[in-house]
Amino acid sequence: MRQLSEVAPGVLIATSSFELTTTTVVVGSDGCLLIDPGVTLAELARLAADLRELGLRPTAAWSTHPHWDHVLWSRELGGAPRYAAPAAVAVTKTEQAELAREAQRSVPGHDFSLLGRLTPLDAGAIPWNGPEARLIVHDGHAPGHGAVFLPGTGVLVAGDMCSDVEIPLLDLAGPDPLGGYRAGLERLAAVPGVRHVVPGHGHAGNADEFRSRLSADAAYLDGLALGKPFADPRLTGPGWLRDTHDEQLRYFGRPGS
Ligand SMILES: [Zn+2]
Repeated sequence: MRQLSEVAPGVLIATSSFELTTTTVVVGSDGCLLIDPGVTLAELARLAADLRELGLRPTAAWSTHPHWDHVLWSRELGGAPRYAAPAAVAVTKTEQAELAREAQRSVPGHDFSLLGRLTPLDAGAIPWNGPEARLIVHDGHAPGHGAVFLPGTGVLVAGDMCSDVEIPLLDLAGPDPLGGYRAGLERLAAVPGVRHVVPGHGHAGNADEFRSRLSADAAYLDGLALGKPFADPRLTGPGWLRDTHDEQLRYFGRPGS
């Protein structure tokens, strides 16, 4: 049985045992585009084997944002150029050691010389030999957060937004955590023709699901802005999610925020 499942023609996803992290594979003319390959050592080995079996050599890769679980790689995946938005690459460069420590804590054994080895790409689309892969870059969740939209199939690879299992996680170290996240959501909401959404963590959804997740995320941000406790069905998830929610509430509940 394959680890990969098809969400739309020529678009496959694999879901990790680690926080339901998704890896997206887009079939091209002479190989594939690989988005956020991960997460465990065994899963990357399996992914490489599955791609080999399908005759899909990675010819380009994209990391949606500079968090450790989205910038992994293995030698078996080959030497394709691995791109990310310039602001994201800047973070992986300065925080490489910390990202490696975080990865080692959660999923040990990776070759950390390959972690975050990304090429900055300041473009409207990923240069590769396959279906158009448009980039939507903003600073919600992390600097240089880049979603990928495939207009041919209507698939939006949203990065760490629009999740059914995670609340919006804001970049509290950024200059405008709430404004940056809202701007990112608005950019995603304005993409015409989304028929499938693939979140960085969680389950893929259809167009209706995409709209309801945008609303749920916007409602969460509205609640946060008030700085008082509120409910969100996703808070029944893992303990760290609840802790992060509390931290975000404290941040926005402090005087003057
Ligand atoms: Zn993230």
